[in-house]
Amino acid sequence: MEILNKIFLENKAWAADKVHRDKEYFHKLAFIQEPDFLWIGCSDSRVPANEITNTEPGEMFVHRNIANVVDINDINIMSVIQYAVEYLKVKHIIVCGHYGCGGIKAAMTQESFGNMDVWLKKIKNIYSKNAAIIDALATEEDKHKKMVELNVLEGANKIKEIDFVKNNSDVKVHGWVYDLRDGILQPVTD
Ligand SMILES: [Zn+2]
Repeated sequence: MEILNKIFLENKAWAADKVHRDKEYFHKLAFIQEPDFLWIGCSDSRVPANEITNTEPGEMFVHRNIANVVDINDINIMSVIQYAVEYLKVKHIIVCGHYGCGGIKAAMTQESFGNMDVWLKKIKNIYSKNAAIIDALATEEDKHKKMVELNVLEGANKIKEIDFVKNNSDVKVHGWVYDLRDGILQPVTD
C-alpha cells in the first residue's frame, strides 16, 4: 500500500502548495465551475489534459476514453457534451488524439481483445471507410498516424452535427493531435 500512501501524501502537499499561493484557491473553485473548454481525449496516462495544456482545475471539462472515440450512441460521452454545452457553456470542444495510441494500434490488427472488441469496432469502422487512403501509405507508422488523424476528424465532425452544438454559434469544435515524442499539440485539418 506504500504506493497509495504516496498518492495521499502528494495530494496533501499539492493542496498545501495551492493554499500557500492563494488562500482562497479551494474556496473559489468550490463555488464556481466556468470552464471554456471541453476536452475529449484518450485515456492514455501519457496524455493528461490539464498537464499538457498547462491549465488549472476549473479551466477544462474533460472526457477521456480509449482512443478518444466519439460515438453519438454512447450515452456517457453524449451526456458530457450536452452538459458542457448547455450548462457549463463551454466555448470550445477539443477532440484530441495522439500518435502512438494503443487503442488505434489495437483496432488496426486482426487480433481479438475480448470485450474491448465492441469498442475497437468503432475505430475499425473508420478504417473501413478510409481503407483506400490508409492502405496507399508506405509505412506502418504513416498508416497509424493517418488513422489517428482520421479518428479525430470523424469525432469532431460528429460533434458538429449534434443539434445542440450545430445550433449554438458560441461553440467551436476543434480536432487536434498530440505527439508523445515531443509533447506538441497540432491542429488536424481535412
Ligand atoms: Zn491512446
